[in-house]
Amino acid sequence: MAQFGQPADRGEWGMTPPTVNAYEDPQHNTINFPAGILQPPFFDASSSDAANYGAIGAVIGHEIIHGYDDQGRKFDADGNLKDWWTAADAANYEQRDKCITDEYTQDVPEAGIKQNGKLSAGEDTADNGGVHIALAGLANTLQSQGKAVDNQSANGATELQNFFLAYANVWCGEVRPEVARTAVMTQGHSLARYRVNNVVGNMPEFAHAFGCHAGQPLVYANACRVW
Ligand SMILES: [Zn+2]
Repeated sequence: MAQFGQPADRGEWGMTPPTVNAYEDPQHNTINFPAGILQPPFFDASSSDAANYGAIGAVIGHEIIHGYDDQGRKFDADGNLKDWWTAADAANYEQRDKCITDEYTQDVPEAGIKQNGKLSAGEDTADNGGVHIALAGLANTLQSQGKAVDNQSANGATELQNFFLAYANVWCGEVRPEVARTAVMTQGHSLARYRVNNVVGNMPEFAHAFGCHAGQPLVYANACRVW
């Protein structure tokens, strides 16, 4: 209440330091990573670049994309609600966004209900785009080291395989059906398994990494790409 009517403190954070989470703030135009998420399995200074890009890299990419998702794109660089897009870009965005919302409007058997892809559109768009940003970062880093994503790494897997394994690993977990149902109906993030499977199913890079072919479960015929 003491802040009411006062100038905004643009240095104030919406999460505490030990929080294992991250967020984008459209009004501050910032992406924010508390200390709590900068530890395994998200970030480990002793781990490979592929593992770190696949985990915390994808989280950072996710938050960047939030600035350009179905909600974030409506804020300008100063954090004001303002339409700064050309009509053509907006129409193109809407078309790509529909692919995502259709894809994620799906039966969620573990929750016993159907997900509303429009409710989770921003998070799903951020997941999908974020992995592309992280993968581009990994490719740049490897190139600077004279390596490439298809090179075999120390553990026998390729750099690209390790990237996707790290991405999937951060979402490994289990919830009760009641929690899954509540989450799908109310909170806007897709369940963890779809945050992995739908994202990689949309990516030819994933099919390439693991030698998947058209018609297999994680090679989506109608692959979506917004960012
Ligand atoms: Zn998010």
